[in-house]
Amino acid sequence: MIVDAHCHMWMEEWVEKDMLKVLESVKESLGLEDLGNLMKGDVERLVAEMDEAGIDKAVILPLDFEFLYEAGDLTYRDYNDRVGEALAAWPDRLIAFAGVDPRRGKAGVLELRRCVEGMGFRGLKLWTIAGFYPDDDAYYPLYAEAERLGITVMVHTGLGPGYSYLKTCRPVYVDKIAVDFRGVNFILAHVGNPWVEEALAVAMKNPNVWVNISAWQKGHSLFAMGLYQMLSQARLMHGGVHKVLFGTDWPLFTEVYSQREWVETVRGLEQPMAMQVMGLPEITSEEKEMILGGNAIAALRL
Ligand SMILES: [Zn+2]
Repeated sequence: MIVDAHCHMWMEEWVEKDMLKVLESVKESLGLEDLGNLMKGDVERLVAEMDEAGIDKAVILPLDFEFLYEAGDLTYRDYNDRVGEALAAWPDRLIAFAGVDPRRGKAGVLELRRCVEGMGFRGLKLWTIAGFYPDDDAYYPLYAEAERLGITVMVHTGLGPGYSYLKTCRPVYVDKIAVDFRGVNFILAHVGNPWVEEALAVAMKNPNVWVNISAWQKGHSLFAMGLYQMLSQARLMHGGVHKVLFGTDWPLFTEVYSQREWVETVRGLEQPMAMQVMGLPEITSEEKEMILGGNAIAALRL
């Protein structure tokens, strides 16, 4: 089974005002000529590309960006509803997370409950680039609700697009809540890049924390050794790669690697010469399959 543990969904007509700035910034960082496919985040395109890549299931992460950006007419509840509609149409292919900023307090708790109990969502997405530290005690009622519901929490860690905050995105801010909410599984998106060691440390220490390799495509295209190095380090620190999940951040990096190409990249990873010289063991094909899907079974309670 192959699971893409990090995808988004949006329609061209939702992308307006500040959300457009985010995509413009991604476009610039990838050196693209136009917004083109970055705007096309509809579920039909996603499922077609999943089919092409042999991906069985994808995690969909709506974003509650209202605390950071002017959001146009689409509220965070509307956004969750759109994802709920997609889930209803593709229940076997999608795993939906609710986009809720924890600063919403009680309303956020109720929105999470509505998404999980009313629409069958299985997780919560925290978009820390909107400027909150996830381990604030004020948000504990939200995590208590996540624990009660038995869902997974995906936390953005590491670099984000322009017009967003970086300082709240360090992986270490997930450590305290992972300890205090042992019944909740946490996933550190993007392996916290550039705080990769910090993300691996948080995942190593806490049995309920995983990382995902989404948004590593551009870096990999420039310096192919980085991904292999990270996986070797995870193996050395954790005794295996069982905490590493596959992910793309679809549709943001399809111009660098399509979903299919990113799956093939992981499957085809070969140990760089410099690491062979160091005598490090190779990542086995069994381990690659664990990253592509096996590990997600525990992280997402599939
Ligand atoms: Zn993302």
